[in-house]
Amino acid sequence: MRQFPDAKAVVGALAPDEPVILTRPHAAARAARFFVEKFPGKAMYAVKANPSPDLLQILWDSGVTHYDVASIGEVRLVRGLLPDAALCFMHPVKTPRAVREAYFEHGVKTFSLDTIEELEKIVEATTDASGKAAKDLALLVRLRVSSEHSQLSLAAKFGTDLTDARPLLQATRQHCDALGICFHVGSQAMTPFAFVQALERVRAAIAEAAVTVDIVDVGGGFPSVYPGMEPPPLEDYFALIHRHFEALPISYSAELWAEPGRALCAEYSSIIVRVEKRRDNELYINDGAYGALFDAAHVAWRFPVRALEDDLIKPEAEFAFYGPTCDDADYMAGPFLLPDDIKADDYIEIGMLGAYGAAMKTAFNGFGATEAAIVTDEPMASLYRGDRPDPRASDNVVSLR
Ligand SMILES: *Cc1c(COP(=O)(O)O)cnc(C)c1O
Repeated sequence: MRQFPDAKAVVGALAPDEPVILTRPHAAARAARFFVEKFPGKAMYAVKANPSPDLLQILWDSGVTHYDVASIGEVRLVRGLLPDAALCFMHPVKTPRAVREAYFEHGVKTFSLDTIEELEKIVEATTDASGKAAKDLALLVRLRVSSEHSQLSLAAKFGTDLTDARPLLQATRQHCDALGICFHVGSQAMTPFAFVQALERVRAAIAEAAVTVDIVDVGGGFPSVYPGMEPPPLEDYFALIHRHFEALPISYSAELWAEPGRALCAEYSSIIVRVEKRRDNELYINDGAYGALFDAAHVAWRFPVRALEDDLIKPEAEFAFYGPTCDDADYMAGPFLLPDDIKADDYIEIGMLGAYGAAMKTAFNGFGATEAAIVTDEPMASLYRGDRPDPRASDNVVSLR
């Protein structure tokens, strides 16, 4: 892949007709090292946030050894690229064939579940041809927790309710070498108290079931930085999680795990788009809801933007975007702040698209072709550079102290 200093240099060299995905390997490596060094337990990468092979290699090279996979496709992908990685199959609804292939062909020993039926499925699918049950399983019971502090809910679909957790934990204990409890507080959790609340529920589940728990997995939800979403420092999340984990009624040797997706890869990618038409304060650009901007369209996520032309002089105004397809839903309300003299043929860089952005492109309506380049400048925002103003100084985030 060609390397450039920044997005402007890419536009200068290529004047691209198609969107260009820019990757910043140094930003992903920095995020990975941060979690590896500072998270007080094991941080595995949630592959669905961005399964790009280049990114997986960067994370591995930066010390991320465990990967949260959710489908047999992700199992095969990661196993093919990283033969020595530990894979954890953390989707609570799997097919028996997927479990069997993961266990017998790819060495996957860790599975999550939220029903007795899924437990029975896993036990059966990991029993060998001579009828011998697996002795080396790590099974994590997924607990339903609140998503109230997060920008994207993951509370409705998966997880056993606290009231049903006791029989499930007791039954699971009979079939595993290591028993765990996992949860997901929802993506982009804007305060560490989301994890504190969830860990309180874990405490209640352990007390009710009176089982020995070997693993507590706090899932994903660690935030990144976007316009209007300035979370507290990740160190605050780590400190509170550690303190509340240590206070749980678990064995001295119990392990703490996390499954960050977004926080490890949001800064990895941005995209260059071109304005094809302007209608008042609506810009028709060449990527959209069916491309890297799914969240901008469907949950009105605001990504940072910057104009890449030097001759724009007017003050910023608020713009909405239309994507390239013929679908009215291919619309991103924003608002996105850009110079008021921006016009057709100008280029824009849209930042912070490494998580759930670049990974979600489709070819709907014949669009979706992209070019790719590596850039060496800084991402538009970063949680890991140490120069971010502390948002606790403002009063629009929940303060810890
Ligand atoms: C999506 C997902 C993650 C990653 O979530 P982020 O909010 O991106 O950190 C982790 N664990 C599970 C089970 C998931 O489904």
